[in-house]
Amino acid sequence: MNTPVPVSFEFFPPKTDAGFDNLLKAHTELKAANPEFFSVTYGAGGSTQERTINTVIEMNSRGVPAAPHLSCIGSTLDTVHELLTRYKDAGIKRIVALRGDLPSGMRGTGGDFNYASDLVRYIKSEFGDAFAIEVAAYPEMHPQADNLDKDIDNFVAKAQEGADSAITQYFYSVSAYTNFVSEVRKRGCDIDIVPGIMPITNYSNLVRFSDACGADIPRWMRKSFEACGDDSKRIHQLGVDLIVNLCKDLIAAGAPKLHFYSMNRSEPTLAILEKLTK
Ligand code: FAD
Repeated sequence: MNTPVPVSFEFFPPKTDAGFDNLLKAHTELKAANPEFFSVTYGAGGSTQERTINTVIEMNSRGVPAAPHLSCIGSTLDTVHELLTRYKDAGIKRIVALRGDLPSGMRGTGGDFNYASDLVRYIKSEFGDAFAIEVAAYPEMHPQADNLDKDIDNFVAKAQEGADSAITQYFYSVSAYTNFVSEVRKRGCDIDIVPGIMPITNYSNLVRFSDACGADIPRWMRKSFEACGDDSKRIHQLGVDLIVNLCKDLIAAGAPKLHFYSMNRSEPTLAILEKLTK
């Protein structure tokens, strides 16, 4: 499959053997899109550490580079060093460097890192250029930021510490993306800012999830889904069409690549990519 721009796919580490088999099946199917890399998330406070490591190493052995997400909040320099050494020794060449969130109920940081920029600086100082470093970006602002301007300054600080590229939180407003990119460029930062694309497989779940992570669902989009009523076929089709149009608009607006939140399934993402490549 010849996608119009390079793509990458995100997975989460499965909890069961059956989940792992499903992940490998989706991984094999998504390879048809010639992705640049696959990434594997990391649970809050390191709760999925061993599963993330095992998943990423298995994926990396299957022909396409795999990148672990690594959140630093609550971690010590030593534990992060040990983890990065394991990844380096296993041939991993890219890290998605994050602050992460403390598990609910925990206060303070209780660790050696306060922000993702601290982790980027640490990776560069201890491991030089061993890893390409991805960081997170929030075109609609990180939910805890004081304001968009400060959040963009904090984003640029991650690039100044050595991040090579960024992946965004998902969003449905092209202008939020173009505005974010233009503000970042005004600050002299030129790293790739790759839109994170969330396929819509279950609209009600998406609404719940989006509230929690601060992604805005525009009114026109809510109304379009409401107009489908209970017609699941129409809802599905609308979800695909809407994301295909979003991807086209983003590419036209200069998005250099696309990163898909696969949710460990191949069909929703492939349905979008097939329409996008036509
Ligand atoms: P940071 O960049 O550190 O920013 C966090 C907040 O602190 C922002 O509001 C920022 O403006 C502010 N800030 C930054 N620097 C400073 C400073 N010097 N002074 C004051 N304020 C500052 N979470 C997981 O647990 N596991 C994952 O695998 C995971 N993967 C993700 C992948 C992507 C692509 C994205 C977009 C998010 C992911 N997350 C993941 C969620 C992420 O961990 C949370 O959004 C977290 O709250 C912020 O992480 P960050 O790396 O963006 O933090």
